[in-house]
Amino acid sequence: MLNIVIFGAPGSGKGTQSERIVAKYGVNHISTGDVLRAQIKAGTELGMTAKGYIDQGQLLPDELIIDILAQTLDGFKDSKGVIFDGFPRTIAQAEALKKMLAERGQEVSIMLDLDVPEDELMTRLIKRGQESGRADDNEETIKKRLVVYHSQTSPLIDWYKNDGKYQHINGLGTMEGIFAEIAEAIDKI
Ligand code: AMP
Repeated sequence: MLNIVIFGAPGSGKGTQSERIVAKYGVNHISTGDVLRAQIKAGTELGMTAKGYIDQGQLLPDELIIDILAQTLDGFKDSKGVIFDGFPRTIAQAEALKKMLAERGQEVSIMLDLDVPEDELMTRLIKRGQESGRADDNEETIKKRLVVYHSQTSPLIDWYKNDGKYQHINGLGTMEGIFAEIAEAIDKI
């Protein structure tokens, strides 16, 4: 089982690189952000709750997102493994993931930290907002998301270092070059 946590600040390229990992390694993909956006589009109650947090650049409560993750995970049958994209984002979520996988006789194989300088993140996200119309890719919300990343999510770097799963990836450069570094790290597991 190849269980990969793809990690990084908003705009670090997690979604783009996840697609390539899925294509090469045949793992399932869970993007909690994509799940929530689909719920918003479908107009569900969960979607309405999620929208309030997403528009403010804030994280959803841990219990809610952990529940969504467990349900998605249980939906995968005959899986070769999973790429977790946008989850975990807090220490509580990382602990829940560890427990959830352990209950299934599995563990996180590697945590890939896509490291991109802050000015580049801002440039990429503003461009993505113009191209995709994603509501939270505007300057004000991006700034809030980066604050949340630094305060609530970046402590996971040390958490995964302590867990022996951490792998730094230089997130600057061509998509192909970044993917080559990712594939090299995965192939060494
Ligand atoms: P993303 O597409 O991963 O950038 O996520 C977009 C937004 O969805 C985030 O800014 C949060 O509001 C919410 N979200 C996504 N994943 C999580 C998570 N693991 N925990 C809490 N909130 C999340």
